[in-house]
Amino acid sequence: GGRVADAEVASVCPYCGVGCQISYKLRDGKIAWVEGRDGPANENRLCVKGRFGFDYVSSPERLSVPLIRKEGAPRGLNVDPANPWTHFRPASWEEALDAAADGLAALRDAHGGRAVAGFGSAKCSNEEAYLFQKLIRTGFGHNNVDHCTRLCHASSVAALMEGIGSGAVTATFNECLKSDVIVVIGANPTENHPVAATYFKQSVKNGAKLIVMDPRGMGLKRFATHMLQFRPGTDVAMLNAIMHAIVEEGLYDTQYLQAHTDGFEALKAHLADYAPEKMAEVCGIDAATLREVARLYGTAERAMIFWGMGVSQHTHGTDNARCLISLALMCGQSGRPGTGLHPLRGQNNVQGASDAGLIPMVLPDYAKVSLAEAREKFGALWGAEIDPQPGLTVVEIIDAIARGDIRGMYVMGENPAMSDPDAAHAREALAGLTHLVVQDIFLTETAMMADVVLPATAWPEKDGTVTNTNRQVQMGRKAVAAPGGAKPDWWITVEIARRLGLDWDYTHPREVFAEMARGMASLDNITWERLERDGAVTYPSLSPEDPGQAVVFSDRFPTVDGRARLVPATGVSPAESPDAEYPMVLTTGRQLEHWHTGAMTRRAGVLDALEPAPTASLHPFALRRMGIAAGDMVRVTTRRGAITLQARADEALQHDMVFIPFAYVEAAANILTNPQLDPDGKIPEFKYAAARVEKA
Ligand code: SF4
Repeated sequence: GGRVADAEVASVCPYCGVGCQISYKLRDGKIAWVEGRDGPANENRLCVKGRFGFDYVSSPERLSVPLIRKEGAPRGLNVDPANPWTHFRPASWEEALDAAADGLAALRDAHGGRAVAGFGSAKCSNEEAYLFQKLIRTGFGHNNVDHCTRLCHASSVAALMEGIGSGAVTATFNECLKSDVIVVIGANPTENHPVAATYFKQSVKNGAKLIVMDPRGMGLKRFATHMLQFRPGTDVAMLNAIMHAIVEEGLYDTQYLQAHTDGFEALKAHLADYAPEKMAEVCGIDAATLREVARLYGTAERAMIFWGMGVSQHTHGTDNARCLISLALMCGQSGRPGTGLHPLRGQNNVQGASDAGLIPMVLPDYAKVSLAEAREKFGALWGAEIDPQPGLTVVEIIDAIARGDIRGMYVMGENPAMSDPDAAHAREALAGLTHLVVQDIFLTETAMMADVVLPATAWPEKDGTVTNTNRQVQMGRKAVAAPGGAKPDWWITVEIARRLGLDWDYTHPREVFAEMARGMASLDNITWERLERDGAVTYPSLSPEDPGQAVVFSDRFPTVDGRARLVPATGVSPAESPDAEYPMVLTTGRQLEHWHTGAMTRRAGVLDALEPAPTASLHPFALRRMGIAAGDMVRVTTRRGAITLQARADEALQHDMVFIPFAYVEAAANILTNPQLDPDGKIPEFKYAAARVEKA
């Protein structure tokens, strides 16, 4: 109260996939504070990141002029973002764009288009994601373009596409207010999707039962009727055991199964091997509890399942998600209010960037590049020939760079030097590129290695649409001016495209959105003008007046025959096992205050003050056993590398687990992680590595 703003601009929070609508309150042309708006996902609520995490925008470390690497300056992480002049010189936009595009074009002309690949980002708008994939596909003639969804829900999407023909959520998270049973597995929403968590809590208050399943205990545990703290990496054993009990007790929905699914008989036969009594030892949850949970879910009137990276970031991530799909469908828990499958999207636009086609194997709206009709449709829209070969994924691209097959990279808003598994390998690969172009708002660890760095605008400095975890397309608006010469990502991509010989003439994101809407059925009835007016539309929207469908697939699934497929999951064990040398299990993730690789939140005063330094969390028992006190420095080692950081006591962990957030460059968790991939989703195993912890 009492504060008066000069102006107010309605937009969307730049952080998580919840997609809270916000108001920037402006004073003297600057963001003075932020308030929640009555958006469809948040109804005025905000978390600490959305409310206080905006001052990264005015950080003195923002890039404001294009940079060109000085002749002979070595590539590495030894650049001070506050003083890049040791390695870079300032350049005009003209010179920097020419240098960026000429370097990429030279590689294309000398070695073929495949010598260049692209990483886009879920931090950018839908229009920017769309333009970026279009540039790689039409400018270089292949599909080697990917983004951080690969490190996020790629395995969930693989399982959902296979099972129900669509990778998006079947119901908005707000539907949980109508559920009588809510399952949250492999997600820590009170920290990573805080506003969604408030809806889970509200539903519990109204009488819903909450079942939480995760190797780590967590904030939501207090609201749960059951907390299944299972052994890391044993999701399939646990979920198959629960389904076994449902089958045994006849709690499945025969009518639903017959009307909407195929494969139940085979699944039933497969589940015979997974009796709770047999699986209890594997997953560490006693058979009685597994059976109780099976009864609770199996007899629910309306149940929803939510999951996060704890399910997806495994070499058996796709199998984990297959189990959740089978569980929901065998009980008929989809297609009605208060029911459904909801993979909680991490980044604010990971849904939208994926929908826009920033994925190597599919075009916009998940049209497979391998299908002639999909290639013809977008080929006609773009006036280009589309390569039928699915492209390489994030980790595969890094490996191709290491092999020398890819020599140039165009990176928009991603920070693979921090976010990729086995980061030492990723950094070495990036440092060996012939030509690296990075556009970002900060001199990220990846930008430090670039030949040309292009300063981009932050989210409050541009117009664009984003799509949240709920399938809600929302309008982000420019509220403040960009520092110095920083330009919107879409503008930079257009300028590079022109220099690569593409005849692009977009002058505003609304023109890009209009082109997207022509090619993407998901955007039917959604126009830029409508979004400007209403702020948000949920897709699918059935008419220009329909605010959109919160729950989908009540009569048929978007598969060829309208039916879902239940796919048995065998759940291979994690790619590596603890042994005498590496006896602990390392798991990585985020924490409430910091966002991903920390580029933004570590430059946001309030957030960095709350969590200023990297920590390794261990159970107090484990600390005692090793003679380590909370606050001591510890060295954590895996087969890939070692980092040193401060020990923290955390009773939420199992005795042989260590948890490290990945936001800290001074102790980058991804130095330690395993790059082994899930065969279907091609997602690396961030959630499980054999590790050793010792006093530093
Ligand atoms: Fe932003 Fe997510 Fe927090 Fe909402 S819940 S304010 S979208 S970080």
